[in-house]
Amino acid sequence: MAGIGAACAWPGTACRRPSACRHWRSQRRVGEILYIHTVEIARKLAILADAAKYDASCASSGAAPRHSLGGRGIGSTEGMGICHSYTPDGRCVSLLKVLLTNFCTYDCLYCVNRVSSNVPRARFSTDEVVALTLDFYRRNCIEGLFLSSGIIRSPDYTMEQVVEVARALREDHDFRGYIHLKTIPEASTELLERAGRYADRLSINVELPTEQGLASLAPEKNAPGIRRTMARMRLHIDDAREAAQAAAPTAMPGRAKAAPAPPPRFAPAGQSTQMIVGADGADDRAILASSARLYGAYRLRRVYYSAFSPIQDASSRLPLAAPPLLREHRLYQADWLMRYYGFAHDEIVPAASGMLSLQYDPKLAWALANRHAFPVDLNRAPRERMLRVPGLGVRTVDRLLQARCYRRLRTGDLAAARVSLPKVLPFVVLADHSPGQTLDAARLEQRLARPPVQGDLFAAAPYSGQPAASAGGAMAMQPSGALA
Ligand code: SF4
Repeated sequence: MAGIGAACAWPGTACRRPSACRHWRSQRRVGEILYIHTVEIARKLAILADAAKYDASCASSGAAPRHSLGGRGIGSTEGMGICHSYTPDGRCVSLLKVLLTNFCTYDCLYCVNRVSSNVPRARFSTDEVVALTLDFYRRNCIEGLFLSSGIIRSPDYTMEQVVEVARALREDHDFRGYIHLKTIPEASTELLERAGRYADRLSINVELPTEQGLASLAPEKNAPGIRRTMARMRLHIDDAREAAQAAAPTAMPGRAKAAPAPPPRFAPAGQSTQMIVGADGADDRAILASSARLYGAYRLRRVYYSAFSPIQDASSRLPLAAPPLLREHRLYQADWLMRYYGFAHDEIVPAASGMLSLQYDPKLAWALANRHAFPVDLNRAPRERMLRVPGLGVRTVDRLLQARCYRRLRTGDLAAARVSLPKVLPFVVLADHSPGQTLDAARLEQRLARPPVQGDLFAAAPYSGQPAASAGGAMAMQPSGALA
């Protein structure tokens, strides 16, 4: 933390005005003061980074490339040497992912930062977050900043603080790394516009898949307000994209290729959201239906799913145990099927159970339940049907489509494409392969099931998916990671 401490002695930090700062009254105390600042910032960072870690919506995919080539500015969203760090529970954090403060006036039951939560509190000044971001970036620990906050004083006041961090990074320090800001639905339109000007991505957490769930667990939040803000962001993003395309130079015949359109000036990486999985009674079908609506209506880049983890002193209205992380994983797989494989949300999850299979991945589960749609002849079938074959990804399908322009596909081509043959072959016809009776065999499901795993004797009780029945449960929910 020496770098952070040293930064205190320079303009742009909390101690930049010696006349107004008690820390600078005596030059002899400089070393001592730097030490105090370092320890204090480390303490805040421990609290505020920990409070932010459960917010899953931090991936930087889709950001417009910014760079600092030629010695101009600092920061880059691409290139070598970027460190990715992982929290103890396995989540990837390649950004400085932090809250401005974990004080919050709201009382969302699922959140560790709620006003009634008994956790240590801390608050960064905007200067401190700026200094930390630059310091971590210079040491190549992060590729950008993910900033969220509990709601303090008012939504506008909080949003102003969040936007000020992004403004200072971009305008005062010429920071060109990735910035993801959480926005507050109730914040003013003007603040939202300013946030979009500085951030690569904006997000608002819808938190729970249904309005009823939100009303029961986060009564101060307003689902229609969240949707209105998402709609406003979509309009801004669309306008900015159209303006960027209109400003793009046109390629002239016989000349070099025209330069690409400049990145849009409002949140070029779009907007995203996060849903907590397992906090209310919503099943996977309801979660995916909600995601489909969000993708369709607000053109979100991503919906992130976050299975809650236990914390202390949680409300008895929450489940006693966390859902299996595999459920979160299955939701991501199903989400992928909706976005890239042409599946509708209601065909992925069986209507009877409403839940995704934990045993099979969603595409394989769909194929096993719809065997009449197979086998697919890989030498003739259109792309949409090939995408439905378990074990064939989008890239593999595109490669196979290219390859079959020149020759008839055989089993060796699949092996060369490194697909899982035991998974694919029962569902396809090739020049040298036909599944025959395999597809209808009763044992096919067993053959393709995940191998059994020895249970953990000391693990928590199996997840029931239902909220706790009695009051006083010590274990429950995860923090959502603030704002919105
Ligand atoms: S989810 Fe956000 S608004 Fe709700 S208590 Fe947590 S920090 Fe506050």
